[in-house]
Amino acid sequence: MVKPKDGNKPKMAVPAGPKAPAAGAGEEVSLYAADKARFNRAADLMGLDDRPRALLNEPRREVIYNVPVMISQSRTPGENGRAKSFLAYRVQYNDVYGPYKGGIRFHPQVSLDEVKALAAAMTWKCPLLEIPFGGAKGGVAIDPHAYGPADIEALTRRLTYEMLPDIGPDQDIPAPDVNTNEQIMDWIYDTFCMHASNKYNVTNAAVVTGKSVACGGLAGRAPATGQGLFLAIREWARDHKQPLKGLRFAVQGFGKVGAWAASFLHDAGCRLVAAADVRGAVAGPRGLDAHGLAAHARKTGSVVGFPGAAGVSDDEFFSAAAEVFIPAALENSVTARTAPLLKCRVVAEGANCPTTPQGDQVLAERGIDVLPDIFANAGGVAVSYLEWLHNHGAQPFDVEYIARFLADRYARNYAIISETVKKHRTDWRTAAYIVSLTRIGEKVIHRGLYP
Ligand code: NAD
Repeated sequence: MVKPKDGNKPKMAVPAGPKAPAAGAGEEVSLYAADKARFNRAADLMGLDDRPRALLNEPRREVIYNVPVMISQSRTPGENGRAKSFLAYRVQYNDVYGPYKGGIRFHPQVSLDEVKALAAAMTWKCPLLEIPFGGAKGGVAIDPHAYGPADIEALTRRLTYEMLPDIGPDQDIPAPDVNTNEQIMDWIYDTFCMHASNKYNVTNAAVVTGKSVACGGLAGRAPATGQGLFLAIREWARDHKQPLKGLRFAVQGFGKVGAWAASFLHDAGCRLVAAADVRGAVAGPRGLDAHGLAAHARKTGSVVGFPGAAGVSDDEFFSAAAEVFIPAALENSVTARTAPLLKCRVVAEGANCPTTPQGDQVLAERGIDVLPDIFANAGGVAVSYLEWLHNHGAQPFDVEYIARFLADRYARNYAIISETVKKHRTDWRTAAYIVSLTRIGEKVIHRGLYP
């Protein structure tokens, strides 16, 4: 059992630069179009009823906000003391399975297309661990590392004010994502309370998850996405009679998801042989200490320069000899260019949308398994659900309960998706969509299409 180390301390996010992993030449650039193609493929294969199909075909709401902020701590000359506006998005894809749920990311490449795709992914993800939430996502187009904490706080509070008509404890519940953290969630909660018609209502805390424990968060939330990823890999290893001890893995993105996944795998006896982040990549074929590397990344802002690890190029990183490859950074990482480099047997998707359709094709041709994002990284939203229940009056759930809860959900649903792969003679990603659409579809049919 891995104990959270430092997981709940308020801190600014791990530095990440503006560059994103580039898709190969000629590859699909619209993430939303890629999701739509996957949705249609699954819906066709399973013969999805036309009512859920029509309901789930497009997002219910797409909101664009203008967020003006007085800047005081910019690293860009001439910005301090002046007002600047940032574009923000919230896409509420669907709420038939439960209230809208999805993170907010701060990144310069945030776009409406990206947020739509990520909101769709949340919609498919929650049913896969039987979590009664719908799907949403938000983002602000900003490089947060170019600003100081006072600017980030002002941006967060103004964004929350702009979102007030759209979010709420039983309406739409944001959470952390790339470059957002507990501190930012606490500011969202506080700003929401300041404007709530009943500021003393204790359930106001349920407006956002991933908060600090002091504000109603759970100690087990910070590790949860990485923990779920570990459990998905453990199920795959069991299924393939592959002992965890000595299993080699490489992780791209050593932030909240990647570092925790690496720590859980390390504690189970697996061997971290390569790690990468926005600044570069390191390798240690005999095994790197995942906890030490996480501490180094927290301290220095990067995996680069970890004592005892060799600096390697991007291509060397992708080519590392490892049974498991974990993309846990941004989208478009496993592409027609990078997929042929991989030496792994399974890609376990910690990031959302890390594999392009062309990347998927290469993996399929090479017989590499994929544990898709909508299943593999669902541990975070599952534990967000427990935090949300706690904020609605349930006792806090401890890390032992969370470990059992996640292990049970992953084992049961891994088996169901695996059966679906066999039944429909399809790949894991399509099977995961089919399981999710079956669950949502059943509810739509019972509820009926209004009016
Ligand atoms: P984070 O900001 O904590 O960490 C992101 C990491 O990715 C950092 O190490 C950063 O350096 C690295 N990175 C950024 N650009 C890169 C590049 N071009 N090349 C290599 N590395 C790069 O973010 P996070 O919360 O860990 O999220 C990572 C991914 O996991 C995202 O796709 C996110 O949507 C997804 N996800 C997060 C959660 C969650 O609970 N935080 C849940 C489900 C899915």
